[in-house]
Amino acid sequence: MANFIQQEIENDLKAGKYKNGILTRFPPEPNGYLHIGHAKSVCLNFGLANYNHGLCNLRFDDTNPTKEDVEYVDSIQEDIKWLGFDWGDRKFFASDYFAKFYEYAVELIKCGLAYVDDLSAEEIKAYRGTLTEPGKESPCRNRSIEENLNLFERMKAGEFADGEKVLRAKIDMASPNINMRDPVIYRITRTTHHHTGDEWLIYPMYDFAHPLEDAIEGISHSVCTLEFEDHRPFYDWLLDSLGFDVNNRPRQIEFARLDLTNTITSKRKLRQLVEEKHVRGWDDPRMPTLSGLRRRGFTPAAIRDFCERIGVAKSNSLVDVAMLEHCVREDLNNNADRVMAVLNPLKVVLTNVTETEYLFAENHPTRGGSRFVPFTREIFIERDDFMEDAPKKFFRLKPGGEVRLKYAYIIKCEEVIKDADGNVIELHCTIDPTSKSGGATANRKIKGTIHWVSAEYALKTEVRLYDYLLTTDEKGNLPEDFIGSLNPKSLIVIENALIEPSVKWAAAGTHYQFLRLGYFVTDPDTTPEKLVFNRVVGLKDTWAKVRD
Ligand code: ATP
Ligand code: MG
Repeated sequence: MANFIQQEIENDLKAGKYKNGILTRFPPEPNGYLHIGHAKSVCLNFGLANYNHGLCNLRFDDTNPTKEDVEYVDSIQEDIKWLGFDWGDRKFFASDYFAKFYEYAVELIKCGLAYVDDLSAEEIKAYRGTLTEPGKESPCRNRSIEENLNLFERMKAGEFADGEKVLRAKIDMASPNINMRDPVIYRITRTTHHHTGDEWLIYPMYDFAHPLEDAIEGISHSVCTLEFEDHRPFYDWLLDSLGFDVNNRPRQIEFARLDLTNTITSKRKLRQLVEEKHVRGWDDPRMPTLSGLRRRGFTPAAIRDFCERIGVAKSNSLVDVAMLEHCVREDLNNNADRVMAVLNPLKVVLTNVTETEYLFAENHPTRGGSRFVPFTREIFIERDDFMEDAPKKFFRLKPGGEVRLKYAYIIKCEEVIKDADGNVIELHCTIDPTSKSGGATANRKIKGTIHWVSAEYALKTEVRLYDYLLTTDEKGNLPEDFIGSLNPKSLIVIENALIEPSVKWAAAGTHYQFLRLGYFVTDPDTTPEKLVFNRVVGLKDTWAKVRD
């Protein structure tokens, strides 16, 4: 774990800070499902804790009741566990601290550091100033402490309408940092909260709540994304003002968020895709959510590996999604059994085969394991593996040509059968009985090897092939109008593919390499009557190519 945050942690420890140990937290807002960007934060926060023999809390940052829901609280826990991390018994809700936040706000008022403002949201915005001009003080800014205490109490008691008053920190309307120009810290909104129900009418703003949540839990290092860098002065101001010990209070450190080519990492946009039904749901295999990636067949190990490899930087950059695909390909190459499936079948009659034979087939080149695949007089091969007017360099099947059937024999194409329209519907071939794979006389070399399935024993299967959800420029940058740029070919369903019978009882989530076609996983839509496979990734590794 060599990154600049770890370095900062070590510096702090050397300086004698955080004597109680390292405590980090992952603080999702339960307003959507976790996506690949969150995975980076999960891996980082739990990773830092593990590395430093510390702990990591799971905290739902649920201070904004309008967009939050228990569905998300549940899915977030499932996804973190799936990624392989454990928060033990330290699952917290920011909303559990609402009473404490209120006390801290009262404390600020008593110190003369907060006031109740009657300005409307628009007025507050207009008074805030700009990057080049200072802000203007509200007429309410110099209310007495007693008046502020009284008004804040009445805000809580429901005496005012939504938006009629707010509580603001009293800092500096001329600060060059706009976040320090008396930020709003409490607002009135009559919204039922998924965790606290109707108990509260006033809700703390994120910038006020977050440092306090960290401080209440005793977090040592509060790791967040770069957009909060300008908020750090307020984070420190608040903890200073409330008298938290500088050697033991949480410290905010920012890192670059993960942005991936071809990939949406905004919860708002992902929610729009779900709500407008452009995808099947949050777990649609094209979604970059962890539940989508899981269904697509990405493995936790591959995602953790990816997060480790991309590292942690202080400036934003765009990571090539091919690198994520490389990680899953590498994992599945090492761990997925090989099988044969035919996506676009062409029938082949082997005219000199009379009996079914069971041929030995290795499951994996290094992990071992084996099975027997039935070899019959009628088989199917991939339509693409036959070409009538083939160029010289076509080393698969052509009229009069030979090719090896994987695990089986060399066959020769003797006759091409066509329908009335001239379409090829069947091939008649013969096998060379002396050429059996692994057999004593199998030393005849031939250039092409193709996959196949037995017509009699193959299982019908649905295969879903995926492409990126959005069409992007060549660099993978996302378009402005993302709904208008949805890729119409992001899902291709092949209803009648065929697969060898060995996969018949595969549980949902089982991975295979379909020889020459890519890595696949059984989808939860699989039933006893019908297998359904998702393609995880193809075999070709564009990332490895770029790297070499
Ligand atoms: P979004 O912009 O998708 O809504 P968010 O930051 O609002 O994301 P949170 O639920 O607040 O979502 O995020 C939880 C944690 O994950 C935060 O600490 C946040 O900084 C981090 N996080 C969110 N997106 C990314 C990303 N793309 N890369 C790294 N960390 C991220
Ligand atoms: Mg956030």
